[in-house]
Amino acid sequence: MARTRDLYEILGVPRDATQEEIKRAYRRLARQYHPDVNPSADAEERFKEIAAAYEILSDPEKRAQYDRYGQGLGPMDFPFGDIADIFEAFFGTGGFGRRTVARRTRTRHGEDLYVEVPISFEEAAFGTHRTVEVERLEPCSVCEGSGVEPGTVPTRCRTCGGTGQVQDVRRSIFGTVMTARPCTACDGTGEEILTPCRRCRGAGRIEAVRAVPIELPAGVTDGLELRVSGAGNAGVAGGRPGDLYIQVRVAEHPIFERRGQDLFAVLEVPMEQAALGAEVEIETLEGPERIRIEPGTPSGTVVRLKGRGMPALGRRGRGDLFVEIRVLTPTDLTEEERRLLERLAELRGHPVGRRARSAGLLRKPEERR
Ligand SMILES: [Zn+2]
Ligand SMILES: [Zn+2]
Repeated sequence: MARTRDLYEILGVPRDATQEEIKRAYRRLARQYHPDVNPSADAEERFKEIAAAYEILSDPEKRAQYDRYGQGLGPMDFPFGDIADIFEAFFGTGGFGRRTVARRTRTRHGEDLYVEVPISFEEAAFGTHRTVEVERLEPCSVCEGSGVEPGTVPTRCRTCGGTGQVQDVRRSIFGTVMTARPCTACDGTGEEILTPCRRCRGAGRIEAVRAVPIELPAGVTDGLELRVSGAGNAGVAGGRPGDLYIQVRVAEHPIFERRGQDLFAVLEVPMEQAALGAEVEIETLEGPERIRIEPGTPSGTVVRLKGRGMPALGRRGRGDLFVEIRVLTPTDLTEEERRLLERLAELRGHPVGRRARSAGLLRKPEERR
């Protein structure tokens, strides 16, 4: 490694060189070895060495320190500053143009696409399939996605000569500096298509409406996103296609409320059934089912039907159905019904009617569920 070379030697100046001489030597060498103008393999390395030597020797304090202790120290291991800072200070980019501007390729990945798929509550419970119409870009069948008319090939870009970048020449106090930026004519690819495909006009892709079959498993939830790999827009010039994202929209159920895998519903039970007991047929996701109302069932009782909830997505097992019983008070009594109820109240010692007085007993509400 030539890293231990003397800094004065690197700049080719005597040890007692003036600041002006050091600056002049640096300018000359920087112009000579800047990688954007010097194509030789070690130009970049030399340039860094020169810049680092200059950074130290142009600063009187660092130079004095180097003169005292720096024998054998090279610019790369000299403990001052950061090489990147120097380039930033000189060129504003933090590096050489040809290192930061790589030639791009025409290859592009296809974009992802998104569709919403509305399904019913029951379809979410048992799974379903759909065929969704997707408007997407597919590879042009004439040019097979290349964008170039069959039988022809892309040519070297006339603006940048095929390098994908163009040089900018700037003058600074350190001399002429060349930087590179991507060529706008070819988008940095270095290739120009003089004979674009007539079908796709050089895009390589054409619009198509495609029916994509999708499988929705049992237990899907509202807002769930499913990915169909590779079903998005086609890529360009050999790039891979994007994905298709399916967002599931599950409709509300008129009766059941879903919380996770469990379902909740309210069952109104007439007062007499709640008092005397009954068997009641209710609706579940699988169809009608009978549940027992025990004699003396209070309002607020919750009946749990195991395994009558929603299936777990991608797992075995199902949630439960919770039915909350609400005891209905009759409001449309006939004359006979009223007499019967009044008789019942009398038997139980409960004063009834507008002028009836009795003591009410308060207590703390219970936590439910
Ligand atoms: Zn085409
Ligand atoms: Zn170009």
